[in-house]
Amino acid sequence: MIVGGGNSAGQAATWLADNGHQVTIVIRGDDLAASMSRYLIDRINRQPGIQVLSRSAIRQVDGAGRLERVVVEHLITSRRHTLAASALFVLIGAEPHTQWLAGSVELDSHGFVVTGPELSGPVRHRPAWEKLSQDPYLLETSLPGVFAAGDVRSGSVKRVASAVGEGSIAVRFVSEHLVRSGGLVAAGPTSG
Ligand SMILES: Cc1cc2nc3c(=O)[nH]c(=O)nc-3n(C[C@H](O)[C@H](O)[C@H](O)COP(=O)(O)OP(=O)(O)OC[C@H]3O[C@@H](n4cnc5c(N)ncnc54)[C@H](O)[C@@H]3O)c2cc1C
Repeated sequence: MIVGGGNSAGQAATWLADNGHQVTIVIRGDDLAASMSRYLIDRINRQPGIQVLSRSAIRQVDGAGRLERVVVEHLITSRRHTLAASALFVLIGAEPHTQWLAGSVELDSHGFVVTGPELSGPVRHRPAWEKLSQDPYLLETSLPGVFAAGDVRSGSVKRVASAVGEGSIAVRFVSEHLVRSGGLVAAGPTSG
């Protein structure tokens, strides 16, 4: 059983079903179209091993020593029914583990690290920035020389390729920051 209607849920459902498991997707909305890519919806529709329970929510889980049953409620009729299930995957989004950064670097309202042009207010007038002669780099946080790349960054694309790309760009910005702050002598172009 999978809770959630996003692409992660769709990928998990099709992978499990393609490997011979009966899969139930539970979503609160009317259908998957609002939150899942078309190609995954098409794969789910073609896969007889997947059923989608829309306008539904899980109310109870039960079992002796391990999961055996899940109680699902239809949100319109309030009718509940019990389904056999040996595993439950909750794929309803992610929260960044950035509590330890609060107060050190700027976070958005969801806890993602704000960088570059998205930083609020006149960053250049903050004490840490006053002796530097330029705005923060694209991936630089509100603290000079501290960079964020990948999923943890506010507004990031949440894809492997973009996380890797941002990581490599951040390395370049680290070098430029060291030059900017006098920690490194600028070198000429390298072949690497
Ligand atoms: C179910 C699912 C399916 C996905 N499918 C796809 C897909 O098909 N294609 C795609 O491109 N992307 C997919 N993604 C998204 C992709 O996984 C992420 O965009 C990518 O992994 C982001 O990389 P990252 O390095 O920014 O973060 P992560 O891969 O999350 O790496 C962060 C690392 O930091 C570690 N960490 C956290 N806190 C600390 C700390 N305080 N100290 C030290 N280490 C710490 C974590 O343990 C983790 O290892 C999927 C994600 C999920 C959850």
